Amino acid sequence: MYKIMQRIYISVCLICLLVWFGCDSKGQPGAVTDDKLRVVTTIGMITDVVKNVGGTRVEVTGMVEAGVDPHFYNPTAKDVQMLGSAHIIFYNGLHLEAKMGDILAKMSEDILTIPVTDAIDRSLLITHSEYEELYDPHLWFDVSLWMQVVEKVRDVLSEFDADNSVLYRSNAERYLTKLVELDEYIKSQVERVPSEQRVLVTAHDCFHYFGMAYRFEVRGLQGISTTTEVGIADIQDLATFIAERGISAIFAESSVSSRSLEAVKTAVKAKGFGVEIGGQLFTDAMGNEGTPEGTYIGMIRYNIDTIVYALIEESEL
Ligand SMILES: [Zn+2]
Repeated sequence: MYKIMQRIYISVCLICLLVWFGCDSKGQPGAVTDDKLRVVTTIGMITDVVKNVGGTRVEVTGMVEAGVDPHFYNPTAKDVQMLGSAHIIFYNGLHLEAKMGDILAKMSEDILTIPVTDAIDRSLLITHSEYEELYDPHLWFDVSLWMQVVEKVRDVLSEFDADNSVLYRSNAERYLTKLVELDEYIKSQVERVPSEQRVLVTAHDCFHYFGMAYRFEVRGLQGISTTTEVGIADIQDLATFIAERGISAIFAESSVSSRSLEAVKTAVKAKGFGVEIGGQLFTDAMGNEGTPEGTYIGMIRYNIDTIVYALIEESEL
């Protein structure tokens, strides 16, 4: 009962804030003053793009913090307040922010609200049998696709704040050069793994873009959203796959519980084989701010180094 009352209370507060900010921002949508451009984003990877492209002109705040799963994220009252006072809101789209749909739709009535994936050619996106007509949202694992997101952010900022478009364009150019280098680094690291060992098993099914771009077979215990349940049959199926293929390492994720993955490890052992947890990958959230993994480039580098280290023979290190 207490929980129900608490939920009603939170809902009422959110509605009040919505009404308040809805009215407040209506008179001057998108007005840019000499102050910095206020941008609010959902996931850290988008926050990082805006930081790199916006530079000193933009004050960007990310809603979903390090280690937090965006599939489950519900905006807080503070988030609603931040969203309501933003000039621009960027989010991933493709149903990644599943629980934020209503609030983002409401905000889009008064504030420029952009799903960063909307300019990407649909033929480059991956569909999934689990969710008919929905695309896999985890495209940041293909660096060349993520570069299109950088271009989208560059174009939106340049159009909205045309006086500073030269700055946004040169910042984006510099960042895109770094991403080309990152893409090449991943390709060179993948080459170190013999092709028959290029199998990536993780807690949830988020590496399909990585698999397609860098020629890895991928398998997740959970579906493309962590909101699906893991059953005993899923654990047994994955354990059989790992044992049959002789896979030496599987990977935990920073934003998903590793409990089910430990169960897979035990199930593989029961079949007379051994598999190690090869490390924890950053998947739907980056590392803590101030650490190398707290940036998109650092996170992707950390992941590929961890994968390669765990999958290749010690003699090849
Ligand atoms: Zn995910």
